[in-house]
Formats: sequence, structure tokens, C-alpha cells
Amino acid sequence: MTKPSTVPTDAAHDHAVCIDKAIATASAVCAERGLKLTPVRQRVLEIVWRAHAPIGAYEILAELARERDKAAPPTVYRALEFLMQAGLVHRIDSLNAFIGCDEPAKPHVAQFLVCRQCHRVVELDDPAISNLLTEKSRAAGFQLEPSSVELTGLCDTCVGH
Ligand SMILES: [Zn+2]
Ligand SMILES: [Zn+2]
Ligand SMILES: [Zn+2]
Repeated sequence: MTKPSTVPTDAAHDHAVCIDKAIATASAVCAERGLKLTPVRQRVLEIVWRAHAPIGAYEILAELARERDKAAPPTVYRALEFLMQAGLVHRIDSLNAFIGCDEPAKPHVAQFLVCRQCHRVVELDDPAISNLLTEKSRAAGFQLEPSSVELTGLCDTCVGH
């Protein structure tokens, strides 16, 4: 297994526990909704979670191809599509990459803080923000559909560099 390249800097963070927890949550969410977390879907989810950093589909495919004889691109795309539908991963459009969701059990429209330097992503799930956007849109004569928001800036680590 590859060592995660980017993990939170606090020493107390045990990333193996973190991945285990994400998989356990995913299994529970799928079981509850009658969805099937197949081995390949679970493996793709683990790869997405291997670092707290967005990962591109091509990178996931490369990782999977190292482990399996057959890792066709459609397999990865289908698995990602499933994981997104289930709310287990989010797509970060501005990076063309995917991150694992911390709280897949709760339906939400997320706001993402994207570090323009290291591409680290922090997820905010603040209903106050989405409600305000819905309100303002309505006032502007616009029917907003559930839309995630991506905001660019610098993370704590990058701000001093
Ligand atoms: Zn972690
Ligand atoms: Zn989320
Ligand atoms: Zn950064």
C-alpha cells in the first residue's frame, strides 16, 4: 500500500483509522439505502481516501491497474459515478478530481475551500450558506438547483510560504 502523500499535519491523526472509518461509514450508508458496495467500488473509495487531497480519475485508474489485471477506465468511471451518487465522494470541478465526503449519511450541498497552491480541499457543509444562496437566487428570479460551491484561496500550510 502506498503511503498517503498528504495527511493533516496534526500528530494525533491516524490516517489508517481515518480510512477504516470512511469505509465503515460507507458500508453502513450503502446497507441502509440498499446499495451495493462491491469490492471494486470499495477499493476505489479507499484510493480516494488514501490522502486528504483530491485525486484524479486517471490517478485512481493507475493505482487500480497496479493491483488488478483488469482495471479498465469504464470500471473506474462507473465506480466513481456510483460513489458520487451515493454521496460518498464529491467531485471538485475546478481540479477535475475527487475527494471523500466526511458525512455521507447526511444529504448536503457542500462548499469547498480549494487551496490554489497545494490543492488541498476543505469541505464546509453549512446549510446557512446554501439557504442564503437559494434565497438570493429566488430574489433575482432564478430557481437554484442543488449546487456545490468551490472557493479558491490558500490553506494554513501554504499561507506563510
Ligand atoms: Zn486521515
Ligand atoms: Zn460532503
Ligand atoms: Zn495549501
